[in-house]
Amino acid sequence: MNSAGMIDLRSDTVTEPTAAMRQVMLSAKVGDDVYGEDPTVNRLEAVLAEMTGMEKGLFMPSGTQSNLVALMSHCTRGDEYIVGQQAHTYKYEGGGAAVLGAIVPQPLDFNEAGELDLEKVRAAIKPSDHHFANTRLLALENTMQGKVLSLEYLDAAVQFCTEHNLAIHLDGARAFNAAVAGGVSIAQVVGKFDSVSICLSKGLGAPVGSVLLGSREFIGRAHRWRKMTGGGMRQAGILAAAGLYALANNVERLAQDHDNAKQIAQGLTQLGFAVEPVHSNMVYVDCSKIDAAALQNTLLQFAVKISASDRLRLVTHLGITEQDVGTIVAAFEAYSKAYFE
Ligand SMILES: *Cc1c(COP(=O)(O)O)cnc(C)c1O
Repeated sequence: MNSAGMIDLRSDTVTEPTAAMRQVMLSAKVGDDVYGEDPTVNRLEAVLAEMTGMEKGLFMPSGTQSNLVALMSHCTRGDEYIVGQQAHTYKYEGGGAAVLGAIVPQPLDFNEAGELDLEKVRAAIKPSDHHFANTRLLALENTMQGKVLSLEYLDAAVQFCTEHNLAIHLDGARAFNAAVAGGVSIAQVVGKFDSVSICLSKGLGAPVGSVLLGSREFIGRAHRWRKMTGGGMRQAGILAAAGLYALANNVERLAQDHDNAKQIAQGLTQLGFAVEPVHSNMVYVDCSKIDAAALQNTLLQFAVKISASDRLRLVTHLGITEQDVGTIVAAFEAYSKAYFE
């Protein structure tokens, strides 16, 4: 539970920095990062580049800004990117690519696996003709609503983009969840992409920050866009220290979150809730036939916090313990006893 005594399942963004994380933030060596002189930021970028097998990293205030800067670094005015209908970079970032980048989105439906069917992507690529926007980039997401994309698909997508002269970006906000759930290294998940954005502020537990990774040349361009969009920070080492701590201490433990998610799914299934298969740290519950607002109120009596929705999302993270899992299932049981009979 968090410092307010709540078991907050709305997102893994709600994680709070632990005492140990705050300690390394307190003693972080800092400098002015706009001058490139913050040693802790420089180390975070280097450590994550090394881990992911990318040439260079760039510390960003948020994942939204990191994705925007990536899209603007790949595409110019009038270029087009192909993206999922439900993708964060399309649907949940205020339309930034179009508004600020003058980049045209071409959204396609994700398949059941959270992938974009490459045949459909092929059909969406515009011919080189003055009627059309210039198709430039494919953007994928992993994990996609908790789904882990297979390495076979990722390799095929990278190969496809090479063949069709497209760049390929990964919104890897939860790429570490994908690596841990798949039992593979983070480099295997993200290393072949032209660029990847990774959040430190989700399940990894840092209070703020994402890192954009790519080639030296790509990051050079991204650096200018970061400055232009207001993302140049000064003594940001205080935040980067939290990110370094997260990379050293909070990656392997994601397996515990995945396990807790499975336990919750199992408990709710036994109570009669319709639960989707769990792939990482997200549990989706079909609430279209129940009173989700009543469920939310019942759960609050157990200090369990959700955002009521027809497709309810429960997210596990380092603020949710195994003991909390018992409380969560008990809270759903209280609802089911009151309303299912
Ligand atoms: C959280 C998230 C982001 C970035 O979000 P910020 O809140 O801006 O850091 C990007 N993509 C996905 C899939 C996310 O879940």
